[in-house]
Amino acid sequence: MNAHEQFADDLALLALGTLDGAERVRVEAHLRECAACRGELERLRGDAALLAFSAGGARPPARSRERLLAAVAGEARRAPAPRVRRRAWWSGLQWAAAAAVLAMFFLLVRQNGELKQRVDQLAASSASEQQQLIQARQLITALSDADADHFVLVSSKTPPQPQGRAIYLAKSGTLVFLASNMPALPPEKIYELWLIPANGAPIPAGLFRPNAEGSGSVVRPPLPVGVEAKTFAITVEPKEGSPAPTSQPIMLGTRG
Ligand SMILES: [Zn+2]
Repeated sequence: MNAHEQFADDLALLALGTLDGAERVRVEAHLRECAACRGELERLRGDAALLAFSAGGARPPARSRERLLAAVAGEARRAPAPRVRRRAWWSGLQWAAAAAVLAMFFLLVRQNGELKQRVDQLAASSASEQQQLIQARQLITALSDADADHFVLVSSKTPPQPQGRAIYLAKSGTLVFLASNMPALPPEKIYELWLIPANGAPIPAGLFRPNAEGSGSVVRPPLPVGVEAKTFAITVEPKEGSPAPTSQPIMLGTRG
């Protein structure tokens, strides 16, 4: 054992801050003269600092952990053998303290790792909910866009059914009506749209004749303002239209 090896264990204790008394004085005296041991002490202190740092951070640095554990284990192996340099009776207490410090490090590192994992899980779950909320908002925005096209799908085996769609704003008396798949009419007949109020007689709401594809429309017919509509209806009338229905409705609205 050369002079440096003699001090190796004490350097590890010094790095962990658990070397005191006469042994500390002796090691420090040697350190003043020995650059190699000063270098080794710096490395050991770096390991201890990394361990302390990692207790508040992510993963323990495996290399530092191994080096310090090896230093402690090396001391434990040599302990029973006769020693050139006699140790004070409390030397064992120093190693117990060092072991306790190390145990504390690794406990903190592990607890920290578990906490970090839980925080990551919570963050991931929160991000997922946030994403769903954003998607829902985007969906609502898209569906309420004025430019959105609306399609009604029916069974392909069913022949196309006549269909009308009325959008009515009572407070301004504004009406837009679109019809599709309407049967063709003889020249002397026409379709008439009626606003059926909650109270009172049907109000004429426009005439339309379907095109070759069966589509027709009534846009902003003259209507009184502020009449609440119970529904809308379509009758077949003479081609000049009627002030009141002269036949049973062929189509009647339901609120969509
Ligand atoms: Zn030395």
